[in-house]
Amino acid sequence: MRIRLIVNPTAGRGNGLYLAKRLENFLVTRGVRTETVRTNQKGDALRAAAQPDVDCVVVVGGDGTVNEVANGIGQSGIPMALLPAGTANAIARELHIPKSPETLGELILRNQTRTIDAGLCGNRRFLLCGGAGPDAAVIHYVHKKRKGRLGVTGYLLPVLLVMTKYSFPSFRVTLDDYETFDGIQYAVIANCKYSAGIFPATREASVADGLLDLVMFHNLNIVRLAGYAARSFFGSLATSKDVIYRKVKTVIMEPLEEPSIHFQLDGDPAGFLPVTIEIETCAMKIIAPD
Ligand SMILES: [Mg+2]
Repeated sequence: MRIRLIVNPTAGRGNGLYLAKRLENFLVTRGVRTETVRTNQKGDALRAAAQPDVDCVVVVGGDGTVNEVANGIGQSGIPMALLPAGTANAIARELHIPKSPETLGELILRNQTRTIDAGLCGNRRFLLCGGAGPDAAVIHYVHKKRKGRLGVTGYLLPVLLVMTKYSFPSFRVTLDDYETFDGIQYAVIANCKYSAGIFPATREASVADGLLDLVMFHNLNIVRLAGYAARSFFGSLATSKDVIYRKVKTVIMEPLEEPSIHFQLDGDPAGFLPVTIEIETCAMKIIAPD
């Protein structure tokens, strides 16, 4: 058995390296051949995951690193294992993936996998969510201003800076080619529970149901957005008439009057509308308990 570990050394404030080492020791003492790739910059994880000739790719890192590995693995069928370091990845949380490297190691040795869906935007895969509107505007701003990703607190100032100037331009959303909504100002397309931009608003979502969960907002302004964020943070996003929830297979989003509406995938900038999003059912295998 041959296993590649892809480790973002900054994950979990360095705790990722320690956890990766523990997993590596566990596997090596059981006769597994391992290799560890430390990521330095954007694209490293994607390239490392795209190399063939391994039985499993373990990723130790944040959402951005996990996203790169999912894209690098592509259609190869090689299972991905998530070793959560620090804040748990939303997929790891939904699938109850163990935090202990040794427990995860046991699952890897048994090749115990589950099959999950991904979202697709062109040929770019996402595991957590895509978002159009204010959250994407903040993400674009942060990436333009500095290299690398920020923790939750690092986003507070950018959120304030961007949101005080944000004009909430509206766009058109078409679902599964038949239902159309105009005047949408914020849309989140989630592939899994727990993670939906700044809103944990999609707790009905499942990473293996063959559907994307879409939350759309209209009649938004900064005060209402803050209100929704607060309510969803405490787990009770209101079933307001200004919030629309659907389960879909395809979503098309097009700008109306304002041409530059930001879009993000798994917390990274992904250009501007228009975009077409679709579900990729049974996209990949992931090491997880039954
Ligand atoms: Mg789903």
